[in-house]
Amino acid sequence: MIASFLIRSTQSKARVATKLASPIAGLRFKSTGSKVKRIGFIGLGNMGLPMATNLYNGFKDQADFIIYDINQKTTSTFLKDHNTDPNNKDKVKVAKSPLEVAQEATIIVTMLPASQHVEGVYFGKDGLLEGLGEKHLVMDASTIDQSMATRVAKVLHEKGARAIDAPVSGGTGGAQAGTLTFMVGSRTNEDFETAKPYLEKMGKNIVYCGTNGNGQVAKICNNMLLGISMIATSETMNLGVRMGMDPKLLAGILNTSSGRCWSSEVYNPCPGVQENSAATRGYTGGFGMPLMAKDLRLAVNAAVETKSTVLLGALAQQLYNQMAANKEYEHLDFSAAYKWLSENAK
Ligand code: NAD
Repeated sequence: MIASFLIRSTQSKARVATKLASPIAGLRFKSTGSKVKRIGFIGLGNMGLPMATNLYNGFKDQADFIIYDINQKTTSTFLKDHNTDPNNKDKVKVAKSPLEVAQEATIIVTMLPASQHVEGVYFGKDGLLEGLGEKHLVMDASTIDQSMATRVAKVLHEKGARAIDAPVSGGTGGAQAGTLTFMVGSRTNEDFETAKPYLEKMGKNIVYCGTNGNGQVAKICNNMLLGISMIATSETMNLGVRMGMDPKLLAGILNTSSGRCWSSEVYNPCPGVQENSAATRGYTGGFGMPLMAKDLRLAVNAAVETKSTVLLGALAQQLYNQMAANKEYEHLDFSAAYKWLSENAK
């Protein structure tokens, strides 16, 4: 009798302990055990909007939401789609500033274009930093330079908050499907494990890259290769078409041959080769030209700092810079490199 009580009691203690240890059980914050009442998301653009939607859908039964973006159109869309609970009119709130997000939410994701936007949102007037403390976990998924990521982490750590850099790969399709790859830089493995359940709602591969800033290292290297391979695929497709080859047939052959790469197989830049590609929908949406130009700038700057040779990376940067500075191209997806080559380089 006593023995069976002891077993039951031990089991129930173990259940309680497991519940407190899990960052999503009753949605409690792992370090303090305090309840996560609200999750915040800042930057609901091409990537952020579908990511925030997946995060919301994953946690809506356990926590409320607060969002912020300087573009009211995108916050209104999110609000209209998700603030539908008649018993909780504040299920989703739109913040007036990043500071308000920090004051209301303990788990925060940011998804911003570049380093200067991250600097403004974190360190600017009414920025996140003013409201952050020990109860916060902040995950920055923007692609920015390694030094800004380490600066953000250092300052947040000094305030007692947890901070990770978690840039992503997988494009807008991956953001919508919740299949992104997250490249995570974090101070400790424990911080990584605390962040993981949230990232898993938005991605399929959550990879620990080492200390803060290392997520950005992986991301910058990946995107330098992507930028180069997209130009190489565009040159190849343009050459084949001009030599009289059917583009779908050529792409099919490349994709079962040694020339195959992500740009040829998943995101072919030639219109009509794939039904759902940015190329087939007039290069709209997707990964904007200025963002690719920015990522190659990050790579080339890092190469200068580390005395690395990046001949093709530097050449690719020149081409994306030209396209990003051209009014017809600046709002197009980066795969419009094919359009540039086929229309301009005659
Ligand atoms: P985007 O320009 O579509 O979205 C950025 C959002 O941030 C916009 O809604 C904008 O209004 C908002 N914003 C800008 N400044 C702000 C501020 N000060 N405060 C609040 N909100 C602000 O960009 P995106 O395509 O979603 O990319 C976001 C990040 O993800 C970039 O760093 C990009 O390099 C990276 N990324 C993009 C893709 C892609 O395919 N688009 C893929 C992987 C990684």
